[in-house]
Amino acid sequence: MVIGFLKGKKDIKCPISPDLVKKYKALGFEIIAESGINDAAYFSKDSYNSEVNFIERNEVIAKSDVLFCADPLKDDEYAKIDKKTHFISLLEPYNKPEVNDQMAKYEFKTFSMDMIPRTTLAQSMDVLSSMASVAGYKAVLKASEKLPRYIPMMITAAGSIKPSRVLVIGAGVAGLQAIATARRLGAIVEAFDVRSASKEEVESLGAKFIEVAGATDDTSAGGYAVEQSADFMKRQQEEVQKRAANSDIIITTAQLRGRPAPKLILKETINKMKPGSIIIDLASSTGGNCELSVDEKTIVHNGVTIIGNSNLADEMIQDSSILLSNNIFNFVKVMVKENAIFYDAENEILAKSKI
Ligand code: NAD
Repeated sequence: MVIGFLKGKKDIKCPISPDLVKKYKALGFEIIAESGINDAAYFSKDSYNSEVNFIERNEVIAKSDVLFCADPLKDDEYAKIDKKTHFISLLEPYNKPEVNDQMAKYEFKTFSMDMIPRTTLAQSMDVLSSMASVAGYKAVLKASEKLPRYIPMMITAAGSIKPSRVLVIGAGVAGLQAIATARRLGAIVEAFDVRSASKEEVESLGAKFIEVAGATDDTSAGGYAVEQSADFMKRQQEEVQKRAANSDIIITTAQLRGRPAPKLILKETINKMKPGSIIIDLASSTGGNCELSVDEKTIVHNGVTIIGNSNLADEMIQDSSILLSNNIFNFVKVMVKENAIFYDAENEILAKSKI
């Protein structure tokens, strides 16, 4: 059994960390990987103890029984994949439904790890959660670095400085990590979410939960939020506007799976913010929570810096590569039985992630 790893075009994290080599061997795998795949994450070639065969991309495609690439391949590359291969990727079929038809053309099996169900059993394979957690942490560090103010309260001989106020919108995986990080730095933190279940989590981290009554119930949405009514969104925007004027940092993380992110910070809200304040929009790749944010760009409006970045996990590439590698390994484990690859259609994790 051969497992092969390809470099992503956009996602440059390394999907095979040196620590996992022995574990793959124990499952019965020989490991091959595209040359240079380890470089971006600063994993030295030596740390793989010559147990990974680093070879040319097309050779990896042709020889793998299980093949991983974080990004889609080109059509001529798909054509080279053997029909017995299990191809694993992150293809976002909920945002790009055309992927389903495209992959149906091929005989090999395709699995998209962003479709793994949000169950307790699948938590160790949940790439979206791993990356959201890194991004939430990094967002606060990035904002604090740009902020022309202290985060904690400072009492000095020259006078006292008030602690910064951080507003977190969306208290899911990224938001909770942002709250915890901002609290550790000494900020006063407030947070919004439409899922009532998040209130307790926000409060347990020492932040204040801001409630807007009348959110649409999302209990059957598999852990994802649902779209809210126009009336709710209007009331939420008014509440955000009040809090934003007082905030030094706003981190937005609110996402709706398969739909554009809700617009929660309007231009008029930003106009009311203190110059020097920072907004980090982690939802920018799906349209952003902030009306003015531009994906993968930093802009300044009325002295407020707005950073649109849904890919902050790549700015902590070594640890995010370790987490990604662990998620992939835990997923691959499910498709191996007695040292052979086995697709069990009854297995919920495999069935739900298969395209
Ligand atoms: P996400 O990235 O889809 O969204 C981020 C947050 O934005 C969510 O908490 C969502 O409720 C919130 N949001 C959406 N619209 C909003 C609005 N108008 N205003 C304010 N907030 C809004 O979600 P996520 O962070 O990936 O996860 C959400 C939940 O699912 C969390 O509770 C998480 O713990 C849970 N989860 C469970 C598992 C598991 O059990 N395996 C895995 C992952 C996540």
